Amino acid sequence: MIDKTILVDLDGTLADYLGALVRDLDRLRSPGEEVYPPFWSEDNPDWHNERINLVRRVPGWWEALEPLASGFQVLEEAIRIGFNAHILTKNPYKLFHAANQKLAWCDRYVKPVLGVDEVEVSISPHKARVYGRVLFDDDIGFMAGWLEHRKNGLGIMTVQDHNRSYTHPQVVKWDGTNLGEVVDRLQLAYDC
Ligand SMILES: [Mg+2]
Repeated sequence: MIDKTILVDLDGTLADYLGALVRDLDRLRSPGEEVYPPFWSEDNPDWHNERINLVRRVPGWWEALEPLASGFQVLEEAIRIGFNAHILTKNPYKLFHAANQKLAWCDRYVKPVLGVDEVEVSISPHKARVYGRVLFDDDIGFMAGWLEHRKNGLGIMTVQDHNRSYTHPQVVKWDGTNLGEVVDRLQLAYDC
């Protein structure tokens, strides 16, 4: 049912990207070295950005990301309600091998939950272009861009440090304790 689709992000929503990156950056840090954020940024020193990419180039790194139970809880509820789930993820710039691994990750972890032969996956840096009734994504930029064109769309966002202060009337923040609220909003989005 193409008109009742939940778009689901991978990194930070279903897959513990940040946990793995922080862990591996910690392993590479010298004693007493300054801690920079685990995000590629022009404000970081070049060497730190290179270190992030070094970690992300490790063979098998993307495929080895741990599933986030909080994300799968919401995904399972959405499936139960009747939504069609469509994975929507951005590939890191020029790290082309990550796309392969993201597909393999979905095959391993998402396919059994959906009970389908093949998981629908879109890989795009422009999530706002992709149609769905719900977007489940932790990223403020993606969420704001997607909602700009969907006055009736629903956003679900797993609360993390980088999105804690973000609010939007169409977004329900999922903090791991308010599953009832998230399910109610999902049901409303499905029924409308
Ligand atoms: Mg994300």
